[in-house]
Amino acid sequence: MATKQREAKLLPEVLEFLTQPKRLLIGGEWVEAASGQTFATIDPATDEEICQVPLAGAEDVDRAVSAAREAFEDGRWSQIDPRKRAKVLYAIADALEQKAQTIAQIDTIDNGKPVGFAFGEAIHSAQVYRYFAGWCDKVYGETNPTAPQTFIYTLREPVGVCGQIIPWNFPSAMAAWKVAPALAFGNCTVLKPAEETPLSALFLGQIAQEAGLPDGVLNILTGDGENTGAPLAAHPGLDKIAFTGSTEVGRKILQASSISLARVTLELGGKSPNIVFPDADLSQAVPQSAFGIFFNSGQVCTAGSRLLVDKRVHDQFVEQMTAAAQGWKVGDGLEDGTMVGPLVSRQQLDRVTNYLAIGPSEGAQVATGGKRVEGTKGYFVEPTVFTGVKPDMRIAQEEIFGPVLSVMSFEDTDEAIRMANDTMYGLASAVWTKDLQTAHKVARGIRAGTVWVNTYGPSDPGASFGGFKASGIGRELGVHALDAYTEVKTVWMSL
Ligand code: ADP
Repeated sequence: MATKQREAKLLPEVLEFLTQPKRLLIGGEWVEAASGQTFATIDPATDEEICQVPLAGAEDVDRAVSAAREAFEDGRWSQIDPRKRAKVLYAIADALEQKAQTIAQIDTIDNGKPVGFAFGEAIHSAQVYRYFAGWCDKVYGETNPTAPQTFIYTLREPVGVCGQIIPWNFPSAMAAWKVAPALAFGNCTVLKPAEETPLSALFLGQIAQEAGLPDGVLNILTGDGENTGAPLAAHPGLDKIAFTGSTEVGRKILQASSISLARVTLELGGKSPNIVFPDADLSQAVPQSAFGIFFNSGQVCTAGSRLLVDKRVHDQFVEQMTAAAQGWKVGDGLEDGTMVGPLVSRQQLDRVTNYLAIGPSEGAQVATGGKRVEGTKGYFVEPTVFTGVKPDMRIAQEEIFGPVLSVMSFEDTDEAIRMANDTMYGLASAVWTKDLQTAHKVARGIRAGTVWVNTYGPSDPGASFGGFKASGIGRELGVHALDAYTEVKTVWMSL
């Protein structure tokens, strides 16, 4: 449990949820892990245990995949009138919205993020369910142009049984991005939340049951990568694996999928360039660039972690950015006014503080920040701006996943594009300019799945999202989710 002082800030429903015994959701039943094993989920603001959660193992994975298979094969979800599926998804969306405060507090305790941002995430999650609810009865096939004696048409059918493995940085939103499209198109799924943040996924399981989702359609396994994620990814009974997380684990998932030949979508790491031209409106570019790197304590796959600034505005921009960084208040996510919560885990704290040491050792200068926050057991680090960064430094190439910005300067548009593309990643990017030609040239030139122009970081259920290069395979959200969660069947008729 959280400490007494923090408990006083929690809603009764959150306290009740936290004290309930935690179980796996398999085939509509809440059950313990077959091994009886559990693990602690930790409050990153205090370094204390919140509660114990089941550690699912290979036997539980097998049961969950079988439950999803049974549900899929008997058609209780895949074969019903799509409007009935939509009704359930709308009900989940409504419940998520009604319980957004509760979900926000659960995610704040479990992940550390400021509760206002966690609330926004819960609302976004509701919007994702609502968006995909609208898709349920709008899945069309095609009539193919063929020789006169043949009539060919296509059907879009559900892929089948999905294994969906999500990270800890946006526990509610990542669950929604995975589960909502899978369900909308008639699939059944096994969801594995990250071991750092298992709680809101279990709460989602309760909501889905109350919304009338049939048993076995959504199964939820809490556990870590080794015991739970790996056997799930390698399970021969899967038709589809969807993963969001590190590029390193993404490679393992792809290898594991070779057993089942499940279709794979991967949303992996990033080192996204945020490019500022001299004609940019700095009153917008500075605060939004700060948002781009400090939001969620920089633990965002699309974080604008490489700031590329035209050398003519470099000094002015750095000065304003430094002031902006100092305005991002670090603290307990349950406190009013906190903008930067703790990092999610001790491991993440070690990783980020290691990069805070690597930067200066490579010759970068610290314009602001650069240290762990002292005097607390929580995993807090200061919003940090490194200047004098060179493209080949590790802090310019490697994903830090913390509130750490690497600033570089460029001479002209071609150099900006070259620098932007000089990483193994290609997830997101942004360009700040009032000049249309520059904006379009950069948008075309950057090899990344998203290019924001004069904004940083917005997300919308209707906007497809995914990566080029080592940032992933496939697209989530928007119309392209259809490709990820349906199979095309071609039907031939001889006339
Ligand atoms: P991060 O480095 O940001 O913690 P990871 O890629 O390690 O992200 O983890 C993302 C998700 O992948 C988590 O749910 C984690 O448990 C899971 N995971 C980690 N290792 C494996 C693995 N070998 N196979 C399947 N899932 C894994």
